[in-house]
Amino acid sequence: MKCVICHGAEIERKKVNEEVQIGHDVVFISVDVLACKNCGERYYDRKTKRYLEEITEEVKKGSVPLRDVGKVSVLAA
Ligand SMILES: [Zn+2]
Repeated sequence: MKCVICHGAEIERKKVNEEVQIGHDVVFISVDVLACKNCGERYYDRKTKRYLEEITEEVKKGSVPLRDVGKVSVLAA
């Protein structure tokens, strides 16, 4: 498999924190994805996509426990 963005051939499986925005909140969900070593483009298989969708729904419903890990800020300008 080649990267469709940079045509690099080095695609590796790795654990990433996928960022999901829910309202004004951001939730990081740890998933295994294929990622291009060169440009960082991520490739999701169908299973991972579905998992992210399901987890996002669960988070919206408040049915999964979340742990606060820090603060997210934007520039006040
Ligand atoms: Zn790439």
